[in-house]
Amino acid sequence: MAFGAVTFFQKGQRCSLPLGGGNAKSKEAMKRKTTRTPFDWEAWKQTLLSHHDVFDALREYLEWHFADAERIKLEERPAPGYERRPTIGLRLQLPENMTLAIRPGWTPPRLRYSDDPADPRLFGRLHTDVVMLELVGPNKLMTLTLREGEPPKAGWTPYDPGVRATRLRTILDTAHDLLVDPAGVFSRQADKCCCCGKALTDVVSRTRGIGPECIRLFGSFTEFAERPDAVAKYRQKYLKETGFLPGR
Ligand SMILES: [Zn+2]
Repeated sequence: MAFGAVTFFQKGQRCSLPLGGGNAKSKEAMKRKTTRTPFDWEAWKQTLLSHHDVFDALREYLEWHFADAERIKLEERPAPGYERRPTIGLRLQLPENMTLAIRPGWTPPRLRYSDDPADPRLFGRLHTDVVMLELVGPNKLMTLTLREGEPPKAGWTPYDPGVRATRLRTILDTAHDLLVDPAGVFSRQADKCCCCGKALTDVVSRTRGIGPECIRLFGSFTEFAERPDAVAKYRQKYLKETGFLPGR
């Protein structure tokens, strides 16, 4: 300790005397902050791995949807690349003002302006094989990245184990609902389109939870026969366990 306080022990009690107007309280707080137990990333990785059945199925499902949505968009309007991130993905409103954004991976453009309009650095790249999950409240609450052949990668993670477990549960529950009853999840989004976030006004869109401009991208969620293997397997397992599968 350099300046500010003298620390000594007296009858088993730790005392601190401020020197030269030093704030002993804030020093104590600082000390607590720096000496707390380090985050156990290995245990967190194992926890995420233990839910691979949900994450694998979700990743296959979303990858399939992203690729399909991109194909439809490019058919409508072929583009050499994306200057801005295209609206492909889901923004699901959850209780308690939380939103789960599920989007493909994205590398932003490296340049904002170039003399050559075809300069590849002006365009970002979309990675439909990467699924990014972002749970947000007013702030970032938890982020995860799913990629084939890799364990789920933790991004923003809360330090508190209780908070961490609750937020992971929220993500897992939403993923589960999406796998067994996607239409049900979308129809819970009455106010905003679950794809682009625009306000929904007409009854059909509100019942569906998807706006008129975005519904064309959502065929991949309801083409039951063509679902990827992991999704079909997950649904079969659920059906076996419960004897019931919502939305067919
Ligand atoms: Zn929309």
